[in-house]
Amino acid sequence: MSNVRVRFAPSPTGFFHIGSARTALFNWLYARHTGGKFILRIEDTDKERNTNEALRVLMDGMRWLGLDWDEGPDAGGDCGPYFQSQRQQIYTTYLKQLIEAGRTYEKDGAVWFKLEGERYTQYDEYKKAEVEKVRAAPVVIQDAVRGKVERSEELDFVLVRKDGNPVFHLVNVVDDISMGITHVIRGEDHLSNTSKHVELFRAFGVDPPVFAHIPLILKQSGPGKMSKRDQGALIEDYESRGFLPAAVRNYISLLGWNPKDDRESEKMEIEEIIELFDFPGINKGNARFDEQKLSALNTEYLRALNVESFAFLAAPFLIEAGTIDATVEEDYLQAVLRLCQPKARSLESLPELCRYFFTDSYLMDEKTAAKISKKSDPKVILTPILTLLKAHDCFTADAIYEALQDYSESQGVKVFSYFPALRFALSGQSGGPDLMPMLEVLGRARVVRRLQAFLA
Ligand code: GLU
Repeated sequence: MSNVRVRFAPSPTGFFHIGSARTALFNWLYARHTGGKFILRIEDTDKERNTNEALRVLMDGMRWLGLDWDEGPDAGGDCGPYFQSQRQQIYTTYLKQLIEAGRTYEKDGAVWFKLEGERYTQYDEYKKAEVEKVRAAPVVIQDAVRGKVERSEELDFVLVRKDGNPVFHLVNVVDDISMGITHVIRGEDHLSNTSKHVELFRAFGVDPPVFAHIPLILKQSGPGKMSKRDQGALIEDYESRGFLPAAVRNYISLLGWNPKDDRESEKMEIEEIIELFDFPGINKGNARFDEQKLSALNTEYLRALNVESFAFLAAPFLIEAGTIDATVEEDYLQAVLRLCQPKARSLESLPELCRYFFTDSYLMDEKTAAKISKKSDPKVILTPILTLLKAHDCFTADAIYEALQDYSESQGVKVFSYFPALRFALSGQSGGPDLMPMLEVLGRARVVRRLQAFLA
C-alpha cells in the first residue's frame, strides 16, 4: 500500500464544471495509479451557494463518472468531518498554534499572518498609499507539472476576517495538514495562492505536500477558459444528452494529459489510463476543449456496446422523443437499433436517425427530393421495383440485393442507380444505414406500403 493521499476539494455551486471534473479525475487517477487514497473534501464556506442541492449535483456527477472516493461524505474516514463548515474547532486549534508562535497580529478586527523578514515601507501605486512590505525569503515550489516556480510573498495576509470566518488559505492548508495530504493536484489558477500556502505550512512546522498545478481548459474557440455557459462545460448535461460516462471520462483524462506512446486510437480502457497516468504525462500548455473529438470518442464507445446494452440505454431517449412507446415490438426495436447503432453519434441523435422505422408519416427531405428528381423520375424507377419486391418471397438483405441485381442487369444499368430513390421513398432521407439490411428490417409489408404510397 502506498502512503499517497490526494484530495478533491470543491466548493459546490450547483454545477459540475468540466474543469472541476478534470481536477477530480486527475486526483482519482493518481490515487488509483499509486494505490493511495482519494479524499473528497467539501469546501462549503459560502453558505448561500454551497447548498445541499449543489452538493447533490456534484456527488451525482462524480458517481456518474465513476470517481469513487475512499474518504469523505457518505464514505466516512478517520479525518472527518469532511465539510469545512463542520471543522471550525480544528481551525481554532490550529490558529492558536500560530498565535502562540507569534506568527499573527490583529489589525482592523482581522487576524493577519505575519511574514518573516525585514520590513520596510513603500509607496503603492495601486493603493495610493504607503504600505508595509516584507523582504521574505523567496518560496521555491518544485511543481510536479510546471517544474521550479519561485515566488516571493511581500505582504502579510489575512487569516481570519472581521466577521470571524477563517479565509480560504488558512482552512485549505489546515485541512491538507490534518488530513495528511501528500500531493495537491489542482488547477493552475491556484498557483498564485501556493506561495502563501507554503508559508503557512512552514509556519505550522510541516513539510508542504507535492504540488501539481494542471493546465487550464480553454473554450472550443477563441481565448479564455471554458466558462459554465460554454456548450459542453457541465457534466450533468452529458448525462442528459446520452453520452456514455466512460467516453466522457476518457475524453477528460486527455485534457492536459497524454500517454505519450503514439497510439492510434484515443479510446482507452480505464484500467489502462490508471496504469499510464502520472505527472510526467501532464502537459504544461493549456488544453483546448473539442466537442468533435469528444463526440467521436462517444461514437466509438457506443459502437463497442453489445446491442442489448445499447438498446437499454437508447430506449428512454426514443420514448422521450415520442419515437416509440410501450407498444413497440421488442424484436423489431432491437433489429432497428442493431442497424442504427454504428451511425449514432450520441443517444440524443438517435430519434432523428431512426424515426422513420416506427412511423409511415416521416418527413420527406426537400433537398433530397429535388436532387433525386433532377436525375430521373423516381416514380418511373420505383414502379417496376415495387412489382418486383411485392412478388419476391424471400425478404432478406442478400435475396433482395440479388433480385435487384438481376433486374438491373436486364435493364442494362447498375443496381446502385436505384438506391437513392429507393432510400428516399422508404425513409425520406438521403443517408442512413446500409440500404439492403434496412429493407430487411423494415420488412416486406412496410416496404410495399411505403412504395405504394410514394407512387400514388
Ligand atoms: N475549493 C478550492 C477550489 O474549488 C480548492 C482548491 C484546492 O484544490 O486547493 O478551487
